Amino acid sequence: HQLIQELEDTIQNIPDFPKPGIQFKDITPIFLKPDLYKDVIKDLAEFSRGKIDAVCGIESRGYLFGIAIAVALDVPFVLIRKKGKLPPPFVGQKYDLEYGSAEIEMRTGQIKSGQRILIHDDLLATGGTTEAAALLVQKQGARISQFSFLIALEELGGKERLKQFEAEVHQILT
Ligand code: IMP
Repeated sequence: HQLIQELEDTIQNIPDFPKPGIQFKDITPIFLKPDLYKDVIKDLAEFSRGKIDAVCGIESRGYLFGIAIAVALDVPFVLIRKKGKLPPPFVGQKYDLEYGSAEIEMRTGQIKSGQRILIHDDLLATGGTTEAAALLVQKQGARISQFSFLIALEELGGKERLKQFEAEVHQILT
């Protein structure tokens, strides 16, 4: 598949960042290639066409693709932010990190009860961040219909962690 090949050639693997032993996937070179970016959005939008009522994007790289997916499909885009960035009223969800915990937040009322939601982020690793985002959406009475990512690092167990939501999952690169 040509899109997969071009993405593999474009995304940079940075060893030992941000910590020793971690290989960081740098997606920023995608934005130097507008045609590639458009193909990525086309792929992600086609996965979700007709199946969702809103896109929720996870800060911050989830915004870079999520908002374009929402615009392509003519549906609302809702930001899921890290704690402390949004003015009230908002709802929050705590989650565990390898060391300590974190929290994400969303403005109250931006997603509606019963809506079919796509949760989008650039990369799925352990699934902790995405799981918290899904719980935050569910708390507000909306339905998780789909998850999408540019990249899923399958050996880290993220897919298994998302099974509880019984939603479709799509990634371009595995
Ligand atoms: P998880 O919660 O373990 O699934 O980690 C996923 C989150 O960490 C996402 O929001 C990603 O943007 C970020 N992330 C983890 N590893 C990488 C990486 O190698 N490149 C870019 N983002 C990463």
